[in-house]
Amino acid sequence: MKTKAAVLYEYGKPLVLEELELAAPKEKEVLVRNKAAGLCHSDLSIMKGVLRMPPLPCIPGHEGAGVVQEVGPGVTRVKPGDPVLLMWVPVCGQCYYCLHGQPYLCADKDKTRNGTMLDGTFRLRKGNQNFQVMMGVGCFSEYNVVSERSILPIDPKIPFDVAALVGCGVMTGVGAVINKAKVKPGSSVAVAGVGGVGLNVVQGAVLANATKIVAIDLLENKLEYAQKFGANYLINASKEDPVKKVMEITSGIGVDYAFEVIGKAETALTSFKLIRRGGYAVVVGIPSLEENVSLPLYEIPLMEKSILGCYYGSGDIRNDLTMLLDLYQAERIHLEKLITQRYRLEEINKGFEDLEKGKNARGVVIY
Ligand SMILES: [Zn+2]
Ligand SMILES: [Zn+2]
Repeated sequence: MKTKAAVLYEYGKPLVLEELELAAPKEKEVLVRNKAAGLCHSDLSIMKGVLRMPPLPCIPGHEGAGVVQEVGPGVTRVKPGDPVLLMWVPVCGQCYYCLHGQPYLCADKDKTRNGTMLDGTFRLRKGNQNFQVMMGVGCFSEYNVVSERSILPIDPKIPFDVAALVGCGVMTGVGAVINKAKVKPGSSVAVAGVGGVGLNVVQGAVLANATKIVAIDLLENKLEYAQKFGANYLINASKEDPVKKVMEITSGIGVDYAFEVIGKAETALTSFKLIRRGGYAVVVGIPSLEENVSLPLYEIPLMEKSILGCYYGSGDIRNDLTMLLDLYQAERIHLEKLITQRYRLEEINKGFEDLEKGKNARGVVIY
């Protein structure tokens, strides 16, 4: 069959809309008709060449939801017509990481990182050219074939755009708070970078009953979004020194938890400086491979400061995604107001321009 997709041929260049050939699903694979795909900063990092994977040409997009159109042999998890959320880490359930309660680190992600299916082959092509897909899902295509391990069936009542966001930004942000930092009630939290993921760190901190939630960003409109999601202290780092300001807010102690949600050495170091003795700095933002950070080492043992990494919300992915959708349905987390702009696939480059300018909380492509 044919599908329309947004292709990245060259780093630093806009995506190109193409009509591609899509092969039928093989064993344990599913053909999904995408309905919504979020525009995440990691897509932009790939487009800019900050993250150079998968190889090009590729179809970015890793935050999506759609409807199962057809299933390959041996598929047991879903049937045609089922609404599904796409997960950018497939969960095999059998590898070292899955068996140690860390399915978000599943060994299968090493295969999808190269942009292929789990068996190392491709389903999208044009002429003799094969096309990679991002993280096994490549949601910037009307249709795609994905592994059964990359999908989660969802309640049909949940809107597709909301489900899509849960698949990356919400899982990552809220998960960092509840699974990795394990924020305690009454604590103080600082969030450096309040874009699509950072707003969900704020939202997670509200859910965890943190009482001081400090949003730090360079853009006023993003700080306003953060306030709407529950941040009660706002710092514009282009105007004020965030470390000085956070020390004022916390009577010179520092916050219990700081989250770096940008992926820069500079903000990682700032986050480390923001935490109190015995505090935790959690690095959530995805940096380029060249980014290195230099820290005052003595503060790690002498002040017992900890740095934690967080990938895809550090949780039991299937269980946590379901929990987040439940929290949404119970109106305990707010997902519709995360979506500040919707685009058609033809407008996707405009969507990424808006993301780069910091206009949106989250922009979503609707198919
Ligand atoms: Zn993402
Ligand atoms: Zn696994």
